[in-house]
Parts: sequence; C-alpha cells; structure tokens
Amino acid sequence: MERLTGIGVSPGVVLGRAVVLTQRTEVMRFPIPPDRVEREVAALHQAQADSRQQLQDIRGRLNQGRGSELAALFDAQLLMLDDPMLVGRAEAIVRGERVNAAWAVHRAYEELYLVFMSMEDPYLRERENDVADVAGRLRLNLRHGAKGPKELLSQIDGPSVLIADELTASVAAQLDWSRVQAFATDAGSRTYHTAILARSLKVPAIVGLHDASIRIAAGTPVVLDGTTGELVVAPTPEQIDDAHRRAARPRRAAISQNEIGPVSTTDGVRIRLEANIELLEDLPFLNAHGAEGVGLYRSEFMLSGRSLDAATEDAQYAIYRSLIEQVAPRPVTIRTFDLDERQFSTPQGPERRRTRPGLRGLRLGLANPEVLRTQLRALVRASAHGPLRIMFPFVSAVEEVRQARAILNDVMRELGVDATARQIKVGAMIEVPSAAIAADLLAPEVDFFTIGTNDLIQFCLAVDRTDDRVSDLYEPLHPAVLRLIRTVRRAASHRKIPVSLCGEMASDPALVGLLVGLGLTEFSMTPGAIPIVRQVVQELNAADARKLAGHVLTLATAAEIEQYLFDALAASAIQRSPSS
Ligand code: PEP
Ligand code: MG
Repeated sequence: MERLTGIGVSPGVVLGRAVVLTQRTEVMRFPIPPDRVEREVAALHQAQADSRQQLQDIRGRLNQGRGSELAALFDAQLLMLDDPMLVGRAEAIVRGERVNAAWAVHRAYEELYLVFMSMEDPYLRERENDVADVAGRLRLNLRHGAKGPKELLSQIDGPSVLIADELTASVAAQLDWSRVQAFATDAGSRTYHTAILARSLKVPAIVGLHDASIRIAAGTPVVLDGTTGELVVAPTPEQIDDAHRRAARPRRAAISQNEIGPVSTTDGVRIRLEANIELLEDLPFLNAHGAEGVGLYRSEFMLSGRSLDAATEDAQYAIYRSLIEQVAPRPVTIRTFDLDERQFSTPQGPERRRTRPGLRGLRLGLANPEVLRTQLRALVRASAHGPLRIMFPFVSAVEEVRQARAILNDVMRELGVDATARQIKVGAMIEVPSAAIAADLLAPEVDFFTIGTNDLIQFCLAVDRTDDRVSDLYEPLHPAVLRLIRTVRRAASHRKIPVSLCGEMASDPALVGLLVGLGLTEFSMTPGAIPIVRQVVQELNAADARKLAGHVLTLATAAEIEQYLFDALAASAIQRSPSS
C-alpha cells in the first residue's frame, strides 16, 4: 500500500483499477487481460506488415519519380522496421508487462531514442527522426486496428481510475466517463483548468501528484478521494471496505452514444455539433456519435507518407465523392491541403505535425496553383454528389481569398458547372491573427468562417506548442484569444454568415459554456467528443452563459478567468443539487 497526496479539486471517493495515460507522448498505456496478449501481438505484427507495405509503396513511387534520392531514406526506415530492437522489443513488452501494443511500441522507441542520442556521430544521431517516423507509422496502423481510447478502455473490466501525466480536454472528452469514474494527474500547473474539467464532467479528481503516472502500474487497484486529495495505491482489504462505504455513487450514467438530432440549450438556443475527420475510416464514428455533418475534413491526411503526385484529380475525386455520399444529406466541409513547404516537397510520416508559420496552407496553394487547381477540380466534380463547403486554410489577407476564388471560378467554367445552381459554399479558416482582426473585411468575401483556435492561439500568443520552454504559455483562455473569437463572431453576425469553431477548444467540456456565451452556436470536434459536449449543452442556459462571458471579458488574466469559471461552475452545481 502506498499513499500519494495531491490537491483534491472535485469531491467524491472512487475505488477502481488504474488506467495510465501518458499524454505528452499521446500514447495510452493500459493493462490487457492474459487472453488478449496473443491478439495484441498479432495486431503488432499486422501493423508491421502494413507499415512495410506502405514504405515499399512509397519507395517504389520515389524510384520512378523525381525524388529518387529520397528513396534511400525509406530503405533505412524499412531496415528499422525489421530491427528486433523495435518490433521485437515491443512484443517482449506486450508479453512481459501485459500492456497494449501501441504503448509497447512507444516504450521500445524511447529505448532506441536513448541509444541514438548517445551516438557521437551527428549523422547517426539524426537518424533518430527516422525511428520516430517508423514508430509513428506503426502506432497509426495499430490505431486503425484498435480504434481510439474509448474502445480500448471498454475492454477493461469494472470501474477504472485514470492516472495521467496531464489530461487535455480533447482526450477527456473522448473517454467513457461511466467507466472511468475518477482521475488524477501529475501536473499541478493547470490546476484550475483541470478542475473545471472535472467539475464539468462531474467526476472526483486530484491534481498535482507529480509522478503518479510513472509510479503506478496499469491495472493496480487504487482509491481516489477527491475531497482530501489522497490516492491510495494497492489498498488493504480494510481500506477497500472503507472506500466502498464512502464511495461516491456513480454520478454520471453512461452517455447515450446513439443520441442524434438537433441539440439546444435549456433556453432553446440551437447548437450545431459537427465532426472533424482525417480519414474516411473515421466516418463510422461520425455516424455513431450523431454528428450533424463534417465541419472539417483535413484533406492533407490522404497524403500521409505519399507524395503529392499520388493525389491525382481522379484519386482525390474518388475520396471526396465517397465522403460526400456517405455524409449526405448532411454537409461536408473539405479543407484544401494545409501543408507546409517541407511536407509539400517530401512525403512525410503519418504523425508529422505542422506548427510553423510561413509558406503554408492557402499561401502554398497559391504559390503552386496547379496543385490547388487540381484539388478544386476534384472538389467541384465531387460536389455533384451532395452538399459541399470548400474551406481555405491559413488565410491571412483578403487578396488570398480573392485569388483562390478566381481559380475556383475558372475551374467551374472549365467544368461547365453553374456556380449558383451547384451551391458550393466557400469559406475561410480564421486561424491567423490578421484574419481575425480584419474579419469584417474578409466576411463579404466568403460564405462562412471557421475559427481554427489551435493555430490562432499559437500565433496570437507567439507560442510554439512543441517548444517545452514556452508551451505553458499556450493558453486558450488568454483575454486576447477570447477577444479575437468575439471579433470574428461579431463580423460574421454583422454580415449574416455562419461561423463555427473547429479547434480543440470546441471539444473541451469546460469551455462550451463560455463559447456559447460568446455567441457561438456551431462547433466541429473530434467525433468521440460529441456525446459529452451534447450533454453539457443540454444542461446549459445560454442567457446565463452570455452573462458569464460578459464578465469574463472584463478580466485581465487567464488565471483570473479560470478562477472565475471554476467558482461559477461550483455555484451552479450547488444550485442544481437538491440535497445542498
Ligand atoms: C486549428 O488550427 O484550430 C485547426 C482546426 O486546424 P489544424 O489543427 O488542422 O491546424
Ligand atoms: Mg489550423
């Protein structure tokens, strides 16, 4: 037995088995029952075979085309894929520790990373990037076999307590909180935000446990007391009895995953919930969670590991058509490629993240008009099969939208499509501060806005999320960010064009009230988050939310805003609870 003490931020006692999530690496670690070990190992080998096939395909294409010098890079990746220190080691971890394969791949990668980092030769040290790519590819292929954290957690028997290094809202929103009945985090720095999240979800929680996610083995029984901030690891039989007596009744019934149709606040404000998707394989989740359409299809994901040459007009048309047909009569918003220069010229691994400013998104499309034109042709052809909205990413000025629309008009003429009859809507992503500040000037140029808070926050606050030294400054609740959102919403209302929000903020159950209070009524998010956001909306009063947002906008710091949201949530919980 071991007793860890942190800060209790959401009251209640829960007894359950630990599920450990290490989110900084975006990989979940969870225990698997003995009878699943063989299946997990088989999934690992299948992912290895899929990855090999993909890498061979890429190499084959590069050998034929202009990038033959790049082919050697993929030869090196193929060798790594068969290195016993990666997949072989991962298999040993799955068997030895009885954990999921994706986690085992991550662990094996971390061990290899240390080996590479200790090498003297800078060229060899650099090869670490290739290992990261190969491990990323394996995990992506495993993901497609195994689905998301929700599906994985559903295989754990009985109630569980989530132990995480930190818990971002987007992951929190996707967990099944009828199974995960409480959570504890190592991080204490974002106490208020995590606390607001816990209270919005109505689950007991502790923060500030420092290294619990490393110390506690997945599957260990724990007792979490969100009132005192105590976490008892491997409790004695007496402590288990005591916990049973004090245990909070499960507060949240399983959320109906199948609830679909329109959702409104308690005072009748209609809120539209759509899904962000990256791959056609995500579509079943969209339907299962009742999304009202696709608010963001990140088209560049179709290129994962492939060169742009592979994305011919016909290949793209087939994908867009299938997407539109499967989602119709609901609308699909397809974003044109949001690539940066490096991704544009070199096929990337599946998990490469874009963070840089520069020649990216629509700017890159305009600099390479043939690529943009090919994509627009495929989109216009596909629009014959259902309602389509075309969205341009990384817009920073009116001229860019005008140029892009001119190309679109050309394409329509070429294809003999009557723009009015076809009713394709054209929108701009508002994710560069200049576009947000001048949203009133952009609004007359487009049919809709979509606010991309992921990029908007980082460029507004000049924070690179991947740089540990400043990533703490990435703060959705910074007053400047909230003001930008309000500015965009007002510009859209003035011009009477729809505006939705599709960044991670949209799937944060702790922020929905504030965003509705700022006047937003359309959100697009990872499909798994829709049920919990729907539930929060159904319990929300829009008039109260507007008052809350009005006050929030008078506050000077993110910390004051968090504190205010936390207090407001505690007060509304007291009002709602009949026993207090
Ligand atoms: C955003 O920037 O908020 C967004 C949704 O786009 P992405 O995350 O794909 O950059
Ligand atoms: Mg973006």
